Amino acid sequence: LSSQQRSPLLEVKGNIELKRALAKAPSRLPLPGSRLKRGPDQMEEDLEPEKKRTRGLGTKVATSRPRATALTTVPQTQGQTAVPKVPRKTGPPCSTAIATVLKNQKPGPAVPAQKPGTTAAPPVVGRKKPSKRPAWDLKGQLCDLNAELKCCRERTQMLDQENQQLRNQLREAQQQATALGTERRTLEEELARVRAQAEQGQQELGNLSTLVIELEERLGTQEGLVQELQKEQLELQEERRGLAAQLEEQERRLQASEAALSGSQAEVASLRQEAAAQADLLANREERLHGLEMERRRLHNQLQELKGNVRVFCRVRPVLPGESTPPPGFLLFPSGPSGPSDPPTRLSLSRSDERRGTLSGAPAAPTRHDFSFDRVFPPGSGQDEVFEEISMLVQSALDGYPVCIFAYGQTGSGKTFTMEGGPGGDPQVEGLIPRALRHLFSVAQELSGQGWTYSFVASYVEIYNETVRDLLATGTRKGHGGECEIRRAGPGSEELTVTNARYVPVSCEREVEALLHLARQNRAVARTAQNERSSRSHSVFQLQISGEHAGRGLQCAAPLSLVDLAGSERLDPGLALGPGERERLRETQAINSSLSTLGLVIMALSNKESHVPYRNSKLTYLLQNSLGGSAKMLMFVNISPLEENVSESLNSLRFASKVRSLPVPSLSDLLGIIAFSTP
Ligand code: ADP
Ligand code: MG
Repeated sequence: LSSQQRSPLLEVKGNIELKRALAKAPSRLPLPGSRLKRGPDQMEEDLEPEKKRTRGLGTKVATSRPRATALTTVPQTQGQTAVPKVPRKTGPPCSTAIATVLKNQKPGPAVPAQKPGTTAAPPVVGRKKPSKRPAWDLKGQLCDLNAELKCCRERTQMLDQENQQLRNQLREAQQQATALGTERRTLEEELARVRAQAEQGQQELGNLSTLVIELEERLGTQEGLVQELQKEQLELQEERRGLAAQLEEQERRLQASEAALSGSQAEVASLRQEAAAQADLLANREERLHGLEMERRRLHNQLQELKGNVRVFCRVRPVLPGESTPPPGFLLFPSGPSGPSDPPTRLSLSRSDERRGTLSGAPAAPTRHDFSFDRVFPPGSGQDEVFEEISMLVQSALDGYPVCIFAYGQTGSGKTFTMEGGPGGDPQVEGLIPRALRHLFSVAQELSGQGWTYSFVASYVEIYNETVRDLLATGTRKGHGGECEIRRAGPGSEELTVTNARYVPVSCEREVEALLHLARQNRAVARTAQNERSSRSHSVFQLQISGEHAGRGLQCAAPLSLVDLAGSERLDPGLALGPGERERLRETQAINSSLSTLGLVIMALSNKESHVPYRNSKLTYLLQNSLGGSAKMLMFVNISPLEENVSESLNSLRFASKVRSLPVPSLSDLLGIIAFSTP
């Protein structure tokens, strides 16, 4: 504790010292300093009854006042012995007399004591005793006695005075004692008070010590806390520094970003301008593109028409394993006018006419039969090569022109191979139907960029013995589908529809594959032991193509028909007819009838005759919308390469030649082409 926080106890002590000094000062009691040291109790003792007091005083006086010795050391018994001593040393002449007188006196204080420090009057006792007077000298003796009396009187007077002084002193001492008693009481009270204060102080000290300990503890805790806080502060400062650095970095980045942003904004503004310009340009381009697209369609159609609305391709299948190789020169493919680089369009078949040779008796030279078609595919031609030639027609179908593709030929000549493809699902031998559909889907996708939306709905039926059956029938109708009827879609409508047949919307190849697979299954179910029906019926795959340009309110719709015709072979009329053969004859007649009707219809269309005999067969009736007007028709004549089939091959080739016509383009068409070509 600091000097300023001085304990109240110490303060009290100090006060006491001061008061003691004060109390000491006014006391004029001739007491030695040691008296106070003896404590209040002893002081009290000193002030007790008189005899004590007297003794005490006597003792004291003996030390401090030699004068009092005579007074105090002269009790009754000793006084007699003491007195005679005196004269022996200093004895005055009257000492004996005094002793005698005193003998009868009451004991008490004797000779007044010499005043302290006074040496002027030598004590009487110290006078030299006069020599003894003779007994007779009464006068002398009287004189001595008078002198002695006088001396005694003087002494009595002195003693009285001294007594008076002592009484005064006693009174004074008593007063002093009273004062001291009062002082003592005051001091006692003060002492009690001081004790109480001291106790209180002690208690307070105790409390304060507890408090101090407590405070020290708290101080310790607080110091710990302060240290922690300081540590925390340091950490926070560190963190703050880190954050400040981060902030600086972020601000720097922000500035950079802002700079970049303003740059970007400027760029965006210029890009927007550019975009607007581009949009204008694009709109112009779109407009032009649309014009060009329409022009392309028109020209494409003109080109197709120039190529002929009815085209005939001849395809000769390869010799299959196990078949006898035809003699060299049996089938020839003469090159075109520009040489071997030209795609072949001609075919030459030689036939040795045995009957003619027999009649003349000499073997006749083989007869050459030359045919010319729009295109001839020799045995080595692949499916892709064939499809390339017809992809233009598929484009026409998308442009809104009906397209019809036939495969004509005797059984086993490769019609189904050409239309649907070879066995095993090998993509290399995929037929025209899957290829055409894939092409359609992809071109439709491209045209969607120009705002055209296309949809496709497929149907697949067969016409057997002039009855129509659904090849896409499912469930219980599968393979045994009831007969379907060909009807107009609505009163006054040109569109035809087959009742009970499924029309399946398709949008991808896989869906088309599934349909072809289903058709194959349906055909397999219908097959009988004696009758490979697929070759005795026409399979008609039709796809309704609908296109719409919503932005320009344009629409186009056209059917694409792919027809795998029934085998064109004839029955040998010379053969005996069994019950099965009769049935077969009926089939054959139906087939021949429908095929010849087809030929007639095509020829009528080519010749632009007013009457086209569509109604003469179910096939032509069903296909009438795919044949007339601006419709494009393509016929594949499939030929067997075998010599044994030469007769049927010749029949097919003749039929195809009849069908094929090369319409002369009109003058207006030519003028249109010339007008477009000149910029
Ligand atoms: P069709 O349908 O005219 O009766 P197919 O298409 O069934 O004739 O063909 C008969 C056989 O000849 C089939 O085994 C077929 O795989 C095969 N074939 C036909 N054309 C070709 C060709 N171009 N290349 C290879 N094999 C073919
Ligand atoms: Mg077939």
